[in-house]
Amino acid sequence: MIPSVPFVSLTQGTRALKHELLAAAERVLDGGNFICGEELARFEEEFAAFCGCRHAVGVGNGLDALTLTLRAMGVGPGDEVVTPCHTFIATWLAISACGATPVPADVSAETYTLDPNSLRRVLTPRTKAVIAVHLYGHSADMDAINAVAQERGVKVVEDAAQAHGARYKGRSVGQLADAAAFSFYPTKNLGALGDGGAVVTDDPQIERRVKRLRNYGSERKYIFDEQGVNSRLDELQAALLRVKLPRVAAANAARGRIAARYLEGLRDLPLVLPMVANWADPVWHLFVVRTADRDRFIAHLSSRGVTAQIHYPELPHRQGAYRAMKVNPDTVKVSEEIAREVASLPLWPEMTEAMVDQVIDAVRSYF
Ligand SMILES: *Cc1c(COP(=O)(O)O)cnc(C)c1O
Repeated sequence: MIPSVPFVSLTQGTRALKHELLAAAERVLDGGNFICGEELARFEEEFAAFCGCRHAVGVGNGLDALTLTLRAMGVGPGDEVVTPCHTFIATWLAISACGATPVPADVSAETYTLDPNSLRRVLTPRTKAVIAVHLYGHSADMDAINAVAQERGVKVVEDAAQAHGARYKGRSVGQLADAAAFSFYPTKNLGALGDGGAVVTDDPQIERRVKRLRNYGSERKYIFDEQGVNSRLDELQAALLRVKLPRVAAANAARGRIAARYLEGLRDLPLVLPMVANWADPVWHLFVVRTADRDRFIAHLSSRGVTAQIHYPELPHRQGAYRAMKVNPDTVKVSEEIAREVASLPLWPEMTEAMVDQVIDAVRSYF
């Protein structure tokens, strides 16, 4: 029987930290404070420092991190927000959750991140903000995106949910725009043992407003200045994340070593491998390849015990959720192509050499 390589596994990494995670949980249990206490305050300081930013605000998940960032910037009904067409649907849902309209722009065929030229073409007088997604752990071209946005007085948000620790021209993601949103969903590069998210920014006004919005719109007990939500990163998750945060750099380095082996082991094949732009230090959240007959490719890997996945099989505007939206296929041509051809190979920090070899052999035997 061929051994199986799952797409991702959290068991080994979690088990290695079990005693420290349990000790952190015990500290919270004994402290008896479960919401907005010391652990959250410490984690916010530590995560802000990790990103090289002044402020971090812990929230319930990555979707809320994006939504509350946009709301803190004043995005609301009647506004347009530009988003890459090729992204996880949460980027779009955050815009819709503010009552604003997502306006898709295309991505670059090399890096799969927001194409600054496409961005320029879809701006209108109603554009209030743009979200740049650091997709698969690879940063978007932030200088070019910021330049286009600044010409038009449009705010820029980084969706850094897949890119904790990634760098752009030597600077960490999270400090490259007006604000950035992170997710701590368990499989992200920094994952909680449940849901979690954070907004990071240097802007004290955005920090203050996100803090208010995550707590019912309240800064002082029973005084509600606006209609907020309940979306706080709880003490338990904050304490667990504090155990994992100091390990992110090592985990990202392990991902980088696996990616390097894939790039080397697959480079002579007729398969489109991920390209690293000269500005980027990616953190390999995913290792995404492209091939014409993607479904047959994935089925072949499966027959060799290797589980591949698709990120993402259907563009947001082709989903039921955005059924009513009309998008000119010419404006999102690259995104349409990518959605048909992408496949993600297994990649997580604790993968063994034997597993990496098995994936390489399985891919090679397809061609
Ligand atoms: C995971 C993810 C989100 C949403 O994060 P959640 O914590 O799952 O809500 C947003 N954007 C991108 C690009 C993501 O990968």
